[in-house]
Amino acid sequence: LITIRDLVKAYGDFTVLHGIDLDIAEGEVVCVVGPSGSGKSTLIRCINRLEDFSENSTIEIDGLTVQRGPELAQVRAEVGMVFQNFNLFPHMSVVRNVMLAPMRVRKTPETKAREQALKLLDRVGIVAQADKYPSKLSGGQQQRVAIARALAMEPRVMLFDEPTSALDPEMVGEVLDVMRDLAGTGVTMIVVTHEMGFARQVADRVIFMDGGRIIEAGTPAEIFDTPKEERTRGFLRAVL
Ligand code: ATP
Ligand code: MG
Repeated sequence: LITIRDLVKAYGDFTVLHGIDLDIAEGEVVCVVGPSGSGKSTLIRCINRLEDFSENSTIEIDGLTVQRGPELAQVRAEVGMVFQNFNLFPHMSVVRNVMLAPMRVRKTPETKAREQALKLLDRVGIVAQADKYPSKLSGGQQQRVAIARALAMEPRVMLFDEPTSALDPEMVGEVLDVMRDLAGTGVTMIVVTHEMGFARQVADRVIFMDGGRIIEAGTPAEIFDTPKEERTRGFLRAVL
């Protein structure tokens, strides 16, 4: 579903990604782990071109080339993104946050958009909060709204960039539970995370990055139990 070839990204003469090659199959759940500054966020932000990258690099999603131009809107409609800091629209109610993109981008009629939004809010367990403003919700609830909002576009791919890092510890579980359910529905997911328990349990594949390169990739058992590379072992010793 996703093909990444020789992905190079630089800020001036500082190279952040040194030629990443990666293929992701439909329905796959991939967790990306690695130390701070290793390029994890940059990698997933390149996938929907929130970041520009080298002209010689290619990313394709579902046969669409991720490049500046008319196809980019189509790519972005197929790729949902959930950020560390929720990024909800503060001046709109929860249900309005979820309805917005389908109404604007897909031209879904308002009543239909509301109906779908309420279904999604029910699925993430917060339909009771539908008419509140985001600031009245806990961090865990806000992040679940952000997930519902991304799902409202029925994306082929969901990208998560440390979705639980900004949460109080007692709220991490409720967000991971929603993500675990989502993984079970066959949505293709790429998750940058420090939650090694989640990665071990839910990922089909774990990718370890360091210094802008994929150092090692494999099943959770391969990466966590029998890592081949010394850098992977060092990282796991530090975080587990
Ligand atoms: P973290 O775990 O801390 O989120 P990360 O693996 O997501 O780290 P990135 O945010 O992708 O890392 O950053 C990779 C490198 O790119 C870092 O060295 C960072 O300083 C650099 N970088 C990121 N954004 C910019 C920018 N706008 N300008 C210059 N350098 C940047
Ligand atoms: Mg990051």
